[in-house]
Amino acid sequence: MIRRPPRSTPLYSSAASDVYKRQITVLLTKKLMIYPIELYGNSVLRERAVEIVKGEVDVKKLSEDMFETMHNADGIGLAAPQIGISKRIFVVDGSMLEDEEMKDFKEVFINPTIESETGDAWEFEEGCLSIPGVRGDVSRKSNIHITYFDEEWNKKTKEYDGMRARVIQHEFDHINGKLFVDYLPSLKRKLLKNKLSEILRGKVDVNYNVKK
Ligand code: ZN
Repeated sequence: MIRRPPRSTPLYSSAASDVYKRQITVLLTKKLMIYPIELYGNSVLRERAVEIVKGEVDVKKLSEDMFETMHNADGIGLAAPQIGISKRIFVVDGSMLEDEEMKDFKEVFINPTIESETGDAWEFEEGCLSIPGVRGDVSRKSNIHITYFDEEWNKKTKEYDGMRARVIQHEFDHINGKLFVDYLPSLKRKLLKNKLSEILRGKVDVNYNVKK
């Protein structure tokens, strides 16, 4: 995902712009790569991504590039299929949000398994960097229990709830070829049909690179 919800407050605080300055420095010194984002309709977004074998991929470099690509697009989550890589890895970073719950939420998830989803389902309007200009209410369970590896290949088992769980659920769907629009009721999907076919034709208005 997940596109940051629109806000009335200024987008970046001065502290955040310091973060960006640091990131630009990092970008210049480490030669990070910003990938074009795959758009709705590209088949890679519909595949079940494959597990990463340790050592096969430089997951540190890949995750840094994914963070860079995501920040460049103002996203708070990005899965590898969204940059055309059909591997089971996604990144999340809510530190740009003012939301207390999301501030320290920056992680890399490799070969994740959602062990269980529990709690009451709640609705929230989601968006996706791969489906620009489209938003819709998605109902998801509030709590998850997840096992995964981080970028150092440490195995982790954690529980998340609320918005953190939701971001993970959305990204986890991506590595299984599922998109948030799949959850929308058919009437809502009909209403979005024109918008979605515009994206299929590559007609999008975004300020980040996309792969048409
Ligand atoms: Zn998404």
